[in-house]
Amino acid sequence: MSDFNAKKVLVLGGSRGIGAAIVRRFANEGAAVTFTYAGSKDAADALATEASATAIRSDAADRDSVIAVVRDQGALDVLVVNAGTLIIGDPLELDADAVDRMIDVNVRAPYHAAVEAARHMPEGGRIIVIGSVNGDRMPFAGGAAYALTKSALQGMSRGLARDFGAKGITVNVIQPGPTATDMNPEDGPMSDFMHSFMAIKRHGRPEEIAGLAAYLAGPEAGYTTGALHTIDGGFGA
Ligand code: NDP
Repeated sequence: MSDFNAKKVLVLGGSRGIGAAIVRRFANEGAAVTFTYAGSKDAADALATEASATAIRSDAADRDSVIAVVRDQGALDVLVVNAGTLIIGDPLELDADAVDRMIDVNVRAPYHAAVEAARHMPEGGRIIVIGSVNGDRMPFAGGAAYALTKSALQGMSRGLARDFGAKGITVNVIQPGPTATDMNPEDGPMSDFMHSFMAIKRHGRPEEIAGLAAYLAGPEAGYTTGALHTIDGGFGA
């Protein structure tokens, strides 16, 4: 497959999990891929070698760093904002600074990255943000702040789709359900509960999410924008 031959792709948060699968997918299809990471230098270096990609250390909680990384890429064909963190717990007990940091990474970074990317993107550019089915449905206690961050991406993408539509740039949200990564291992404590109400009673694979990202970035998706694309095994059905 070579839909992305010579295309320039930036994945924010690409060293592990869903982001790493997205890096591999675009690299395997011929793209020149750059990705960021915050802490996992060894994983980032290994993936960069494996996928012939470029790894840049940049904390998504640092707005200026996010904007600088995107700006330095120049005319990107595809921006994927995947970096995200998950804090679950009693809102009466959660550390306020930790909650605000999650909001910085999960909401402020996608907004500023998307806007900066659109300044330089050519006609037909693609902006893809990784949200969550929890933007639509939060079926357990303790997830209010995380759900807040993911539902914020819904409004952001609808609005930016209209802002950038005239330039032929599409803006879409992928909303995964439980996906087997370090953040949400398939043998984790919540898995049986989540599988109990899902139609497909397993975690998704990062490669399944990457496949949807490739579709949204590809030539058949030029008419798809401002939309939420849920891929969740029926978690939210
Ligand atoms: P992981 O924790 O497995 O991986 C997160 C990735 O994002 C890593 O590459 C990590 O880099 C990077 N990252 C995290 N924080 C930062 C930061 N401050 N700056 C730069 N990079 C950062 O998570 P997943 O792969 O599971 O999740 C990816 C996205 O998918 C997130 O937005 C998450 O909310 C969303 N999602 C995940 C679901 C799941 O069940 N797994 C379900 C629904 C949505 P580093 O290695 O350096 O820390």
